[in-house]
Formats: sequence, C-alpha cells, structure tokens
Amino acid sequence: MHTTTQSFINEQEINTILEKHRQPGLEEVNEVLAKAKEMKGLDLHDVAVLTSINDRTQLQELFETANHIKETIYGKRLVIFAPLYISNLCANECTYCAFRAKNKAIVRRSLSQQEIKQETEMLIKQGHKRVLLVAGESYPNQRFQYVLDSVRSVYEAKHNNAEIRRVNVNVAPLSEDEFRLLKNEKIGTYQIFQETYHRPSYKKVHLGGLKANYDWRITALHRAMEAGIDDVGIGVLFGLYDYRFELLAMMQHIAELERVFGVGPHTISVPRLEPATGSDTASNPPYPVGDLEFRKIVAILRLAVPYTGIIMSTRETAKMRSETFALGVSQISAGSRTNPGGYEHEDEVSGQFSLGDHRPLDEVIRDVAQMGYVPSFCTGCYRLGRTGQDFMDIAKPGAIKAHCGPNALSSFMEYLNNYASPETYKTGIQLIEKTLAEMEGLPADRARKLVDRVKRGQSDVFC
Ligand code: SAM
Ligand code: SF4
Repeated sequence: MHTTTQSFINEQEINTILEKHRQPGLEEVNEVLAKAKEMKGLDLHDVAVLTSINDRTQLQELFETANHIKETIYGKRLVIFAPLYISNLCANECTYCAFRAKNKAIVRRSLSQQEIKQETEMLIKQGHKRVLLVAGESYPNQRFQYVLDSVRSVYEAKHNNAEIRRVNVNVAPLSEDEFRLLKNEKIGTYQIFQETYHRPSYKKVHLGGLKANYDWRITALHRAMEAGIDDVGIGVLFGLYDYRFELLAMMQHIAELERVFGVGPHTISVPRLEPATGSDTASNPPYPVGDLEFRKIVAILRLAVPYTGIIMSTRETAKMRSETFALGVSQISAGSRTNPGGYEHEDEVSGQFSLGDHRPLDEVIRDVAQMGYVPSFCTGCYRLGRTGQDFMDIAKPGAIKAHCGPNALSSFMEYLNNYASPETYKTGIQLIEKTLAEMEGLPADRARKLVDRVKRGQSDVFC
C-alpha cells in the first residue's frame, strides 16, 4: 500500500478553513454546539469554528456540551493505566526529549527481561491491570526482538496469581512485518504521536535519526492496521505548533483511517510539552498552550470524535487532570515513573520529562473516587476480541455505558478488595453503592451481579 501524506494532511485546506472561521458569529457557534449534541461527530469546519471561541460565555457553553457528551456516553468511568519505560536508549534527536541521542545529562539504561518482570510485579502489587510499554528508538543487541520479548515478559509476570491483562505499546514506527510480529504478542493498542502535523515545525525539532522522516511516521498507523492491529492511538505533542492547526490535521488523519480501514483511532493522547533534562525546546515551547486553551482542546476533541477515548498522562498536575475529566478525558495514567527501572528506583533527572502528578496509585484512586469518578481496570473488550470496528459497533449506539459501566464497577471492586488502603476502601465502597443506586435497567442488573461475584471472592469478571 502506498499512502502519501500529500493526500490526507492538506495544509492548504486547513489554513483556508481556519481563516474562514476566524471570527464566527454567535449563531454559527450555537449551530456547531447543537450539532455536537447529536453525538455524531464534527467536520473540519465545525472544529475550526470551535477553535475560534474566546468569549467567556461561549467557552462555558463549549465546556458544558463536552461534559454533557462525556456523561452521556461514558458516565463517570475513568480507565487507569501505568506506563512502563523499558529503555531510554535512542538514536533520534528530538530536541524536546531527554532521551535524544546527544543528551549526555541522563543515565542510559535498557531493562533486561528479568528486570522488566520485576518492574511489572511492582505494578501488579499496586493493583494495575493495564500497562503502556514505552521505549526510545534504539534497542539493545536483540534489536526489535527486544520489544517483542518485553511484551511477553510483562504478560508473564505474576504476583499472588494476579497479572497485567492488557499491554498497550508506544514505540517508534515499525514496518508492516514487524507490526505483524507485535500483533502476535497480543498487544492491546498500538499508539504513536505525530508530535506535530505541521511539516516545517516537525523538521525544526527532529534533527536526526529515523524520526526525522515525517512520512514514515505519519503512515505508521496505516501499516499497523494493514498488519491487523485494529486498536490504534494517535496524539499531538501540544506546544510545538499552533493547536488550531493540529486539531484540524488530526481530524484529517482520523478521516483518512476511517476512509481506508472503516474505523478511526481507538484513543487520542494529548501530551503537552513538559520540561525535560537537557532540552531547551521543552522549557520554552515554540507555541505554548495555556491551561484554558488546554481545556478547550480536550473539550473540542470530545465534541469532534465523541466515541474515541481521550488519554491524559501524569505530565499534567492533579488539578488539571481533574478539570479535564469533566470535559471528556476517559483514561489516565497513575503512579507513573518515566525512567526505566523507575518503579524500583525513581530518578527524575533520567526520566523522559517532568511529571506533574507524583502521587501513588492508591492516592490517585481515592481522589478520583472522591470526585465521583469510577476508576476502571477493565480489559474485557480486548479479551473478548471486541476491538476496532467491533468496539465501535458496541460504542456507537451508546452501549459503552451498558457494558463498561458494570465492568468498571466490578474491576474497581476487585481493586478495593485486594489493593486499597483502608481509607481508599471506605471511599470506594461508598462510591460503588452510590453508583449502583443511580443505575437503572439492564446495566444496573448486570453491575449488581458482577460486583456481588467479586465480593464473594471471584476475580476478573466482566460482561
Ligand atoms: N520513542 C518513541 C517515539 O518517539 O515515538 C516512543 C516513545 S516516546 C518516549 C513517547 C512520547 O513522549 C513521544 O511521542 C512524545 O510525544 C512524548 N514526549 C517526548 N518528550 C516530551 C516532553 N518533553 N514533554 C512531554 N511529552 C514528551
Ligand atoms: Fe527518542 Fe522518542 Fe524521545 Fe524522540 S521522543 S528522542 S524518538 S524517545
């Protein structure tokens, strides 16, 4: 398959549309918000209109619409995962990243398979079920086989009969054959961020190595999907270029995947540039994105692609994370470390970037629960083979709540039974009871049955 970016990231079209909607009237904004409430997604023009909102009242309406969509489709569920950094070796020269090849200020390390199992055990002990495996773009002697072995090691690790149930992967773009091998290891989502869709900006910050090739990167998900990986994740590193442009380009990327494969990305990540050891770009982003703009980005994405998960990492502070839950974030990382081996020995200098949220998992879970959100460790869809189009089929008619709501509660109950501190247990049980009392119909029946089974000592129950 030969896909050129010329055909799907069309800078001229983006700029023309942005220019056209630079100052939308009140009526135009209201029309887009009304369309968004139908929860069928938005087009490039609609997104451009929303990016131009600056008026406080209109912004508030945007946020309220995002909250309405999030509550209607996802309810109060928040999926929890932990990143697992296996290696910070890297042959690329991304000016914003501490792992870039020429950076002498960090200690280089790639974990052995034994160490990966130990790190995973630390995560299992905390109660994690989902891991995002992350690496720089250069692998030790075993080359790409290292990544395959590492995925296997994470699945093989055990503690008290518990294990990681879904491994998502964020590694550099692969060839189609390599993607096939990765799929054979039973990964969940493969994610890759374009960083910036704006070619000149991309060139400025990617100074060497394979990553300097914009086209190889932007076609990565085509190769992944061609190889049969149907849950894929996209993302932009906000701060490298104008976020308005990035949002429209992201829409073009999504439309392209939908056109070719009949299904768009499973998730969108919204990393914002954070300070990183040995990086000027990271400390002085060329296009800084303020907190209000950041909330606007999340809200617009929630309206534009209502059924696509939005992931927020521990790059953001606890305050920003809680503000964006209400706007549409559906997955968060918790208790994270970004240096290889970091769960045994934290070392922020050698981490990939500074973390905004340092709290351990138990504390994050308690906080999330106190805010009324149900932490979910569910991996049911993936294990039942409900991925890609099959997931979207159950998602689109609004069934996320009917499946994921009950599964979130049973997986949370399992967490409380086995890993929570007494304080978190108390908060969590109250939340489960309250949520069950508010549920109606089939989801309520299912949820009660599942939670009861976990209370009786069963684990890993889902529908
Ligand atoms: N090396 C692979 C690559 O670059 O695609 C995968 C792992 S890389 C460590 C994962 C992501 O970290 C990058 O795609 C980038 O968006 C993000 N990142 C790098 N430096 C960052 C920084 N200073 N602040 C926030 N995110 C950063
Ligand atoms: Fe390497 Fe990825 Fe960091 Fe770039 S972002 S320097 S490719 S680890």
